[in-house]
Amino acid sequence: MSLPSHHPGDTLLIDYAGGGLCEGAALAVATHMAFCPACRHAVAEMEAVGGVLLDDLEPEVLSPGCLDALMARLDHERPPPCRPAAPPVASRSRYPEPLRSYLRGRLDRDGRLVPAGWRFFQPGMRGLDLMAGSVGTTRLIRMKGGVAVPQHTHGGLELTVVLEGGFSDEFGAFQPGDIAVGDGSLEHRPVSDPEGCLCLATTIGGLRLTGPVGRFLNRFISF
Ligand SMILES: [Zn+2]
Repeated sequence: MSLPSHHPGDTLLIDYAGGGLCEGAALAVATHMAFCPACRHAVAEMEAVGGVLLDDLEPEVLSPGCLDALMARLDHERPPPCRPAAPPVASRSRYPEPLRSYLRGRLDRDGRLVPAGWRFFQPGMRGLDLMAGSVGTTRLIRMKGGVAVPQHTHGGLELTVVLEGGFSDEFGAFQPGDIAVGDGSLEHRPVSDPEGCLCLATTIGGLRLTGPVGRFLNRFISF
């Protein structure tokens, strides 16, 4: 498998390293990192710099009772979700960790995705929701060869990591391990490669179809 050529960019990697991404976005970045030594290395350096900065902080004298108040607060606050972490070495799996942990019960004994639970999105395109109740939606999307997603833009961040096959849009060709980063300023019309495409997609803020037909369909379709 060749190395990815589309990466999340420094801003997203810094947010990931600092734990500032929601669980779905962190899962997409970590899944890309499972394929990408360059981004794993960059995040390891960011985390090392963050650790040095914390070590350099001058200790503060705390008021009496401060520790008790902090412990009481921790007792009442829900812990933040664990940040999905990429494996330290490159994965050769089609479904690398941390993604694999989200696929419990979705893979058969041979490591193939079971057909149950997939939803119809449009002819040749189905989706399998992985995360319910979190910010945005995170799902697997499977497209047959040559399927075009209607032209659309995004209400927020959209991260798409290719797992098998590939797709192309106005911004390039995306192969396994590549991550496509979209937001409200980007309008595109992805088309799957002839062999089809399986990808992990996290969308925050939903999609808005933008063609003349798409604007009409927006009233009826929920991606
Ligand atoms: Zn990368």
